[in-house]
Amino acid sequence: MKLKAPEHILFIKPYVPGKPIEELEREYGISGSIKLASNENPLGPSPMALHAIEKALSGLNRYPDGSGRELVMKLSKYHGVSYNNIILGNGSDEIIEMLTNAFLLPEDEVIIPKPSFLMYEISAQSAGAKLISIPLKFLSIDLDAITDAITDKTRLIFLCNPNNPTGTVISKKSFEKFIKNIPGDIIVVMDEAYMEFIRDRDCVRGLDYINSEFNIVTLRTFSKIYGLAGLRIGYGVMPEYIAGILNRIRPPFNASSLAQAGAAAALDDKEFFDKTVKLVHDELEFMYESLNKIGIGFFPTQSNFYLIDVKKSADDVFESMLRLGVIVRSMTSYGYPEYIRVSIGLHEENIRFINALKKVLL
Ligand SMILES: *Cc1c(COP(=O)(O)O)cnc(C)c1O
Repeated sequence: MKLKAPEHILFIKPYVPGKPIEELEREYGISGSIKLASNENPLGPSPMALHAIEKALSGLNRYPDGSGRELVMKLSKYHGVSYNNIILGNGSDEIIEMLTNAFLLPEDEVIIPKPSFLMYEISAQSAGAKLISIPLKFLSIDLDAITDAITDKTRLIFLCNPNNPTGTVISKKSFEKFIKNIPGDIIVVMDEAYMEFIRDRDCVRGLDYINSEFNIVTLRTFSKIYGLAGLRIGYGVMPEYIAGILNRIRPPFNASSLAQAGAAAALDDKEFFDKTVKLVHDELEFMYESLNKIGIGFFPTQSNFYLIDVKKSADDVFESMLRLGVIVRSMTSYGYPEYIRVSIGLHEENIRFINALKKVLL
């Protein structure tokens, strides 16, 4: 074939998402399975968001508000930041992509902890940039090693806090020490997709730095705490200069009218927010207890997912669990061939998970 994509694109390994339940059930000839693989909200979507989306349906013949005015205003109040600090994305994934598109030239360097969220690598590679992977240290992001890896060519540093897939967080103290050494021509991206689940009071938050001299971009999403992963809406909070740059390349209607309506309503859904946080915290305690009881090793988390050390092939465990109708994520592709990642489900789902795990491991 004559047509050929550029080398740096051919080099990318496509993101492999957790398969939809329907597809797995068809493949394996099973039914009634539960999905604990993608850190989704097991309670369903925010009811207030659903209601607002229904109301917005009749306006689908019109283009969305290209500036997302109502939602951005609400977010700016919610976080106590300026309107001009906020950029909406078709999921926070899209903000990652806008950042790499806007700020990277081929040969620039991007520092990414490993393992972490795979979209950082994919977006940086699609911009032709050079990945500098920094291994985690005891499952946590190694800020000292990241600092040591900075060169004249470093443009972006991605920090996932809490880190997916390990659930560890960055402390205020270690971040404070880190950020002081970051040159002014580098952007530090703090991906806080799971920030609402954190219980560790010592965890740093990117938003605390919005009025500082540092180039910090904080990413948040409606996909997890608000149960709106299918709607595709997230946002970034950043210094006005960076927001202005991203606005130059942002597709004008990247946040759909349904997404804008649903997200704006979800922000008011305090009841659903609290219910989700309580479920995750209660069920995490229940899972820790249950796993301790049967002597299976796990890593405590600050998020709505956690890692289990299955002490054998995670791919095999994934397969066996699947046959019992429980979908989890093998961590082999993340470099942990004997760990699985499990999302917190409803109480009944978590019990079913424990029973399946016992069958497979004990
Ligand atoms: C789920 C997740 C996101 C959210 O992505 P959306 O595009 O907003 O759905 C972002 N970062 C991490 C680390 C995640 O796990």
